[in-house]
Amino acid sequence: MSFNPADNIQDLQNFGEFGGVNPSISDSSTYTFMAAKTMADTFEGNTDGCHLYSRHTTPSNLCLGDALAAMEGTETANVSASGMGAITPVLLQLCGAGDHIVSSRTIYGGTYAFLKNFTPRLAIQTSFVDITNLEIVEAAITENTKVLYCESVSNPLLEVADIKGLAVLAKKHKLTLVVDNTFSPLSISPIQLGADVVVHSLTKFINGSSDAVGGVVCGSQEFIDQLRSVIDGACMLLGSTMDSLRASSILKNLRTLHIRMKQHSYNASYLANKFEADGIKTVYPGLESHPSHQLFTSMMNTEYGYGGMLTIDAGSLEKANALMEAMQQNNVGYLAVSLGFYKTLFSAPGTSTSSEIPEEEQVEMGLSDGLIRFSIGLDNNIERTYQTIKTCMKEVGVLTSESFVSN
Ligand SMILES: *Cc1c(COP(=O)(O)O)cnc(C)c1O
Repeated sequence: MSFNPADNIQDLQNFGEFGGVNPSISDSSTYTFMAAKTMADTFEGNTDGCHLYSRHTTPSNLCLGDALAAMEGTETANVSASGMGAITPVLLQLCGAGDHIVSSRTIYGGTYAFLKNFTPRLAIQTSFVDITNLEIVEAAITENTKVLYCESVSNPLLEVADIKGLAVLAKKHKLTLVVDNTFSPLSISPIQLGADVVVHSLTKFINGSSDAVGGVVCGSQEFIDQLRSVIDGACMLLGSTMDSLRASSILKNLRTLHIRMKQHSYNASYLANKFEADGIKTVYPGLESHPSHQLFTSMMNTEYGYGGMLTIDAGSLEKANALMEAMQQNNVGYLAVSLGFYKTLFSAPGTSTSSEIPEEEQVEMGLSDGLIRFSIGLDNNIERTYQTIKTCMKEVGVLTSESFVSN
């Protein structure tokens, strides 16, 4: 049987304490031991299934971690208080003073700022490269390189990483390939393609309600144990711990992720095709015009589609801003950062989520002023939404009358 992330989640069975159909929420920060020796053994990491203190593990956090490990096909997983609270401990666990990271240059603004501005203080250097060019990636690897870092589908430019190709490079040079899969849950399964560690911001599609912040690291038992070590584990010691109540609510939302992703993908694909036909510069991995369309197709779990993210170029920042305001007024969605909500969210990355990236570098990577990033919602009638957007585009002059007539 081939790997199916949603089936793997479905196949888990968790009973609550009194036979509840949902796992019980552990409302405790600390746990009792019947024997003093067990406590000592637990501190040394020699006991399975014992909880010590909730910064280490909680039953609720383990349940959510198990489900996410099942989704990605890893031995285990560790949930954290945010996506950044998952990404930063992973990088700090794998790298110390003198080490080097090769990272995609088109990554989430927070991750970029961490690698560009923060880790150099710890003498960890990063080379930012065009991740779509394996020759350039390999040329950036030095004898100090420890980590190859990318996003399966990058933020905000929707570049697609050749995970199989990167995994070959990682093996050859003994690097750990870390993939942020936040933009493409279910659609892409990086571990199956050779990645070593997968991280997610649960805040986005996985939770899907824009009411919670969370993150996860999916990896081998050995690596997750290292992160949780009371002696030198970055997750344990940096303390970005998820709350049990939150773990429980995110687990409940995770169960509908497959249905939501299919609808996000359907709607995004519908709009991307329409926008492109209208003559608007549109980037969506599901479009044949996308430079990595074939690559995405070769990696994807087909039934979940090409995801809910697309970008258009409105021509200028002024037009982009006018269009976003018009779309909010007409209730297409909200002018807000983040993604994965039931409503469409849109923002201009150059002046918001990617503003950490200096302007010259934005230009170099193709992040134009007029770029609008959309996280397409779960709209029931996407043709109706398209018609509303089209009216807004006409109103603010994004669609010329010429292209408008032809459609
Ligand atoms: C939002 C996001 C993050 C950071 O996650 P938080 O939960 O906000 O800390 C990391 N990577 C990507 C791709 C994201 O979109």
